[in-house]
Amino acid sequence: MNAPAPTIGVLALQGGVVEHERMLRGIGADVLLVRRPEQLAVLDGIVLPGGESSTIDRLLRMFGIAEPLAARIRSGLPTLGTCAGLILLADEVLDPAPGQQTLKVLDITVRRNAFGPQVDSLETTVATDDGPVTAAFIRAPEVVAVGAGVQVIGRHLGRVVAVRSGAVTGISFHPELTGDTTLHRQLIASARRWRVANTADTAEITAVSANAAG
Ligand code: GLN
Repeated sequence: MNAPAPTIGVLALQGGVVEHERMLRGIGADVLLVRRPEQLAVLDGIVLPGGESSTIDRLLRMFGIAEPLAARIRSGLPTLGTCAGLILLADEVLDPAPGQQTLKVLDITVRRNAFGPQVDSLETTVATDDGPVTAAFIRAPEVVAVGAGVQVIGRHLGRVVAVRSGAVTGISFHPELTGDTTLHRQLIASARRWRVANTADTAEITAVSANAAG
């Protein structure tokens, strides 16, 4: 029996939403474009896309999504942040826009626009722990410090551009623009595992409360 497709959200406030949507649908996910906090409850995973991190941050707070989203990611929701999405995950940002905040769900420090004009925009292959990934870099951030629980899973020019902590993966680049599905498949696999674990929990809670009631 085939398990039903996992539901993957793409945060759709600003930035490169449709490329992720298309890629996720192409590899068997149901996709929900997330613009309201109530939508978070049905997700098995989420993508935070690239765009302008300070704009996405402002909209997240304006629409009351920032706190529930951070709580959901902390509770284990499989998450892939790309470029601006990586910045949103970080505990700390160097060179922020005025007033810029983040979700603070990943113990890393990132520097915005870290590669400078020479790598303003570039396509290359990044060796990651999940395999080689064809990646586009566009005004990409660099991870300049990682906390104890965070693994470095990819580098470019010796600099850290991919990290993972539990079910949260953050990357400086855009695989959705090159058509490389490696990391999106990894997200879907993680979302399937998370859903099975959470469905089991729910079944157990239902059984326990049925026993208590009886
Ligand atoms: N430089 C952008 C920022 O700070 C990120 C660029 C991108 O997402 N491609 O948000």
